[in-house]
Amino acid sequence: MTNIQGIGASSGIAIAKAYQLVTPDLSFEKATIDNPNEQIERLEKALAISKEELEKIKEHTRKEIGDEHAEIFSAHLLVLSDPEMINPMKDKITSENVLAETALEETANMFIDMFKNMDNEYMRERAADIQDVTKRVMAHLLGVTFPDPALINEEVIVIAKDLTPSDTAQLNREFVKGFATDIGGRTSHSAIMARSLEIPAVVGSKEATGTISQDDMVIVDGNEGTVIVHPTEEELAAYRQKQEQFEQQKEEWAKLKDEPTFTEDGEQVELAANIGTPNDVEGVLNNGGEGVGLYRTEFLYMGKSELPTEDEQYDAYKSVLEQMDGKPVVVRTLDIGGDKELDYLDLPEELNPFLGFRAIRFCLENEQVFRPQLRALLRASAHGNLKIMFPMIATLEEFRQAKAILNDERENLISEGKEVAGDLEVGIMVEIPSTAVIAKQFAKEVDFFSIGTNDLIQYTMAADRMNEQVSYLYQPYHPAILNLVNNVIEAAHSEGKWAGMCGEMAGDSIAIPILLGLGLDEFSMSATSILPARTQLRGLSKKKMKSYKEKLLAMGTAEEVVEFVKERTE
Ligand code: PEP
Ligand code: MG
Repeated sequence: MTNIQGIGASSGIAIAKAYQLVTPDLSFEKATIDNPNEQIERLEKALAISKEELEKIKEHTRKEIGDEHAEIFSAHLLVLSDPEMINPMKDKITSENVLAETALEETANMFIDMFKNMDNEYMRERAADIQDVTKRVMAHLLGVTFPDPALINEEVIVIAKDLTPSDTAQLNREFVKGFATDIGGRTSHSAIMARSLEIPAVVGSKEATGTISQDDMVIVDGNEGTVIVHPTEEELAAYRQKQEQFEQQKEEWAKLKDEPTFTEDGEQVELAANIGTPNDVEGVLNNGGEGVGLYRTEFLYMGKSELPTEDEQYDAYKSVLEQMDGKPVVVRTLDIGGDKELDYLDLPEELNPFLGFRAIRFCLENEQVFRPQLRALLRASAHGNLKIMFPMIATLEEFRQAKAILNDERENLISEGKEVAGDLEVGIMVEIPSTAVIAKQFAKEVDFFSIGTNDLIQYTMAADRMNEQVSYLYQPYHPAILNLVNNVIEAAHSEGKWAGMCGEMAGDSIAIPILLGLGLDEFSMSATSILPARTQLRGLSKKKMKSYKEKLLAMGTAEEVVEFVKERTE
């Protein structure tokens, strides 16, 4: 057996065979051929298998995610059946005596270049479709496996270099029991999604793909951040027992599902959940969530070939509000960029995407994208307890501008005779240090703050949240972070506003006592962290934690903070 250490990104233990989700090597040696018919036959066979696979993926996507998303695969299927694309490949084989691989690659590249340079956005998207499909056909020509998460039909643990949020969205919970990746951190979006899918996961292990082969038996321990390859019989037995203990622990936690969250000294706080889609609400309610503290709307925009319409968005927001039945739902407007890309928007490549043209910066420059979302939200506000917040606010001007557009759309809807909630709270995410520092000025204008520590930590410490090389600097308990968080909470309270936190830190067992002492009002976390957090808070005294506040804020290192908190809470 081999042990690989990474970062525990989603708790629980999974035991199954490995499924390598890595793009295979698609390189080949060019050669001259003397039997063109044989090459044409190879090409036709590879095209036929690819079509069959795409039909299956399309059907799976339609069932699991919806018609809209399945449409991407219809576009891919069209490419494979298009004679204008396929005939030139065959002609190339006969006229130039080349391998099917060469004909496929050269013809596809010619079309990709042509489409990429067109003015029309629709045509530019076709270039991406051709690129995707060509890889699949090439893999079949070369006889190498082209992995497809949607086609997995037995219990596996997915092993990948990295998983994009849209890869993660495709994972079938029935068969994918866990995953392990080489890169990423606890706050990369695939890790966040693993938690909402309740799939045990270890990320940032550096060597998962290099060490684990297809079909190897593996154990993923998401609690400890360990992956065990080829476990011995004893290890298997020990982990099966741990798995059982974890299940029992969950049953204990579940007893608090319908209880409010009170501390030992009778103080109440709100425990809310972070969600990515309306389907996640079920998990929120099953885990005793008292609200949704962050709805990451960007997942509505992913895995598609075009922007979602205003009506589609309205349906999604309304569904979340109705399912939450009057409980608060904080919806964040589009936060695209960073590790969340949208192919169809064709944004320029950036050197530092996390510091670039993303989130509110993009929306304020692209009102044709922003306004339909705001309209959908305003219309949905009539169906529940909605609060809107803007992501990545760095300046007061950005907030004012976003709020003015929101108010403008409110007026438009009212004059169109549409119903809109009268008392809609509008807040911001505090995830940029500039905003945390002048929170006092912001507090006069916003209705609430939600502290996004996933980004706030990376920007304060200048340590990329996706980069495991600098993960030692990614320190939630660093006094610099605690001072910023405190500043935001104090600023909110001085203006009679509330402060929540929707970064992963809000569900962290060492941070929870500190945040309680700083006076945080709302803790929003992965749904599966809610019951452990409620259990922990019932044993904590807010008064006592508050008495440590000044001491903690004056400390010099994260290590001192952790030691101090552990000694007083364990
Ligand atoms: C954050 O930055 O803390 C946050 C909640 O937003 P996201 O993780 O989506 O960037
Ligand atoms: Mg963020």
